[in-house]
Amino acid sequence: MNIFEEKESNVRSYCRNFPDIFHRAKGSIIYSESGKEYIDFLAGAGALNYGHNNDYIKQRVISYLDSDAIAHGLDMYTSAKKEFLEKFFSSVLTPKNLDYKVQFCGPTGTNGVEAALKLARKIKKRPGIFSFMGGYHGMTLGSLSATSNIKMRSGGVTTNNVTFMPYPYGFMESFDTIGFIESVLSDVNSGIEKPAAILFETVQAEGGIVVAPVEWIQQLRNLCDRHDILLICDDIQVGCGRTGPFFSFERANIVPDMVVLSKSISGYGFPMSLLLIKPELDIWEPGEHTGTFRGNQLAFVGGVAALEYRENCHLENEVKVKEFFLQNFLVQEIVPINENIKIRGIGMIWGIDLVNFGGASLAKKIAACCFELGLIVERVGRNDTVIKILPPLTIELSTLQTGCSIIKEAFLDCLLHLK
Ligand code: PMP
Repeated sequence: MNIFEEKESNVRSYCRNFPDIFHRAKGSIIYSESGKEYIDFLAGAGALNYGHNNDYIKQRVISYLDSDAIAHGLDMYTSAKKEFLEKFFSSVLTPKNLDYKVQFCGPTGTNGVEAALKLARKIKKRPGIFSFMGGYHGMTLGSLSATSNIKMRSGGVTTNNVTFMPYPYGFMESFDTIGFIESVLSDVNSGIEKPAAILFETVQAEGGIVVAPVEWIQQLRNLCDRHDILLICDDIQVGCGRTGPFFSFERANIVPDMVVLSKSISGYGFPMSLLLIKPELDIWEPGEHTGTFRGNQLAFVGGVAALEYRENCHLENEVKVKEFFLQNFLVQEIVPINENIKIRGIGMIWGIDLVNFGGASLAKKIAACCFELGLIVERVGRNDTVIKILPPLTIELSTLQTGCSIIKEAFLDCLLHLK
């Protein structure tokens, strides 16, 4: 038994599926203490879109640290925060014609979701929130109440005025989910009161890589407008270029009322969480939603460098090329293994759904076999039946290819041993 198993809480999770001691990492490769190399198709659960220890970002962080600049700044005005805001507006918001105020939240994604839910309720003076079946929004009590996985709420955590609506997935794909929400809102006997906001992901990542159709996202926006409900996009995992454009909702040409960003916004894996708010909705009183760690200066510095890097390397085009590669690989090499295997994805987030072929146990075996063969790949979705491909956006094509061939090898190995 190692010190982790002996001393770290039972709640630990990723380490159980990837039982090695990691030591060093560069780009898309992680090295363990024993020197074993792993290709990383997990990318810090989306926090490492620019790869591990990206040199461009690293240099900026090192020189910032070296200059004795402010490291912790509460929410004071600092040079690093000023540069971050200037760059975020000039590079992202202004060219996209997006008019938002920026709220710096506590350090992790869930803090941004908490702020969004609290602000929406304050604005609309209604307690209700609609979230979606399959949605994942974090583990603090507010965001947890909007996370659909019942297991995560076991033991008495309530859904605190959150109602779960159907997402266009599985049986619901052929069901008019927007029509259903419409009828809930219009029927005085639906039993469900009008919410302050609808919280959604354009791609349910933890929910099993379920990509909402463009028309669905547009209808959702339209429904919110007609019913005076705020639309909050949780772009924590699939924002920051994961699907190609900086924001995942751009493909639907809609503008949410609020957007939550985290994970890769700092560029280097540093904790940072932002809530973007339409200016007329920014009705916070000064200090009404505060927190000690809302000014991670290294995250600001990394965030500026990351946006520069994104532009210099034409990362949006890179994602298109790699999306094409991933889709072709899955269609040509994985789907033919069995007609019941389903693939889904967009940009550089893809899932291989084994719910109708081998289920959770096969998915677990394949992911474990990948790990043996030197690839880190996670499972998501209902009962963890979906193998999730989430490499850094910066991964070299040859490494992406090697990682994919490991997945195929793991499939074939596992199927051979099943017989
Ligand atoms: N929303 C989404 C869509 C996420 O993927 C996650 C993290 N997996 C969160 C919220 C919560 O973020 P954090 O773990 O940083 O609190």
